[in-house]
Amino acid sequence: MIKVQDYRPQPFTDFTQPENIQAYEQALKKVRAELVGKHSPLVINGERVDTAERLTSLNPCDTAEVVGTTAKATIEDAQRALQGAWQAWESWKRWDMDARARILLRAAAILKRRRLEACALMTLEVGKNYAEADVEVAEAIDFLEYYARSAMKYAGFGAAETTWFEGEENGLLYQPIGVGVSISPWNFPCAIFIGMAAAPIVAGNCVVAKPAEDAGLIAGFMVDIMLEAGLPAGVLQFLPGVGKEVGEFLTTHPKTRFITFTGSRAVGLHINEVAAKTVPGQKWIKKVILELGGKDAMIVDETADLDVAVTAALQGAFGFNGQKCSAMSRLIVVDEVYDRVVNAFVERAKALRVGTAEENAPVTAVVNQMSFDKISGYLELAPQEGRVLLGGQPLGEANGKKGYYIQPTVVGDVDPKARLAQEEIFGPVVSVLRARDWNHALDIANSTEYGLTGGVCSTKRERLEQARHEFEAGNLYFNRKITGAIVGVQPFGGYFMSGTDSKAGGPDYLANFLQLKSVTERW
Ligand code: NDP
Repeated sequence: MIKVQDYRPQPFTDFTQPENIQAYEQALKKVRAELVGKHSPLVINGERVDTAERLTSLNPCDTAEVVGTTAKATIEDAQRALQGAWQAWESWKRWDMDARARILLRAAAILKRRRLEACALMTLEVGKNYAEADVEVAEAIDFLEYYARSAMKYAGFGAAETTWFEGEENGLLYQPIGVGVSISPWNFPCAIFIGMAAAPIVAGNCVVAKPAEDAGLIAGFMVDIMLEAGLPAGVLQFLPGVGKEVGEFLTTHPKTRFITFTGSRAVGLHINEVAAKTVPGQKWIKKVILELGGKDAMIVDETADLDVAVTAALQGAFGFNGQKCSAMSRLIVVDEVYDRVVNAFVERAKALRVGTAEENAPVTAVVNQMSFDKISGYLELAPQEGRVLLGGQPLGEANGKKGYYIQPTVVGDVDPKARLAQEEIFGPVVSVLRARDWNHALDIANSTEYGLTGGVCSTKRERLEQARHEFEAGNLYFNRKITGAIVGVQPFGGYFMSGTDSKAGGPDYLANFLQLKSVTERW
């Protein structure tokens, strides 16, 4: 029997063990031999469909290398994908919840077996080093297992409680919504791509999934696993393409019932706006689930264990080069310990080597030219808005490879209202902000339009309790790094301009993709 309580998160791989490094290097060789240079077509109604135009995935750490290509869906392909998904829904919605869940569990089992391949592919396609790729594939497995098991609580008539009423039977039935669209970002191209598709699917919906342009290959790899696990044709339509073209078409289409989107605030808000406009042929108010950006802060007060704080800051800031929605991009330090914390932080950050993901460098290249240019723009602004304590240069090259490298950068004494302290940079750039005291630090932390992750390093109980209630973040961490939420352990999602707080990997996430019907029979 499938039970929610049987879920256990995947352990991470210990890369201090030489045999794990060797296994990873072998996987890189295997992926180079078997997957690199391959083409990933669309999947519509279970069939592989090629297109005249293609999208190219470049290795960001070595831009001379083409990792592979994906098809580039046209509007006609998107139209067919939606139609096919609606047809598939007619039978998929009638499947028992546990039968649907078993497909996810089987997919999780296949991915466990192919874990290293998935990791190696991401190392090449988006520049994740070994540990970053490993935790992401673990998260993908977790999403599949957790959603499969969570689905059980929505199965059958009476899954949700109602109050007794004389002379009647009353009950609630969770039903799937229909067909929706899932649009994912490049920075968690395995876990978020599959999590946002698997959740609606297990609940009985069909999904048209559009991955990010920079990361279509790992998404195609995951779709293959879902098909191998037995997912019927049409339930998951794979539609790599251009966001502004097919993405826009799908989100504005009258037959799209829900949109689950993870990405930038600008695109998310745009989707929210266009999805709210009713178009001819529409009979459903679109449900929009948004997971957007952040300007995440960690506070260090004068009572903190400073070693713990500096380690937490380092991990939160530079893991995957700061390209996480949860990345610590603001370090807020109270005046009394400011110099000590900042000096230690800069010293430790100085030691971070910049290099290729393939050689497992702690800091690798950012994902593409657009990111490189955007971050470089903030580096130019840095001397005007603070004191550049470390880095400050785009590199463009590391270890003889041309790629989108940026030096880890720390900018001190940034004003809380400055652009560096307010705007999401999405790169290895940290703004340090000086606070007079604890209360000032908390005010600064709450002074952006975002509310995704946050942290406090302090040993004062009353401050932690105050932060528990008043620090405005969907995911708050004390005395540890502010990244790395684990499915089921730290349900993830932000509020304010960081999203609709849907809490991916949380106990109520599947309810986003279900409608609740009350049925009464008078005896
Ligand atoms: P983008 O918003 O640029 O793109 C996200 C997806 O939206 C891509 O698939 C993109 O396609 C697509 N898209 C672009 N324009 C449209 C449109 N008009 N209609 C429909 N779809 C469209 O984000 P990034 O991929 O650059 O991802 C980074 C962002 O994601 C950061 O802001 C980060 O904070 C956020 N994020 C948030 C998370 C959270 O849980 N809150 C988790 C992970 C990331 P294409 O690739 O073709 O442009």
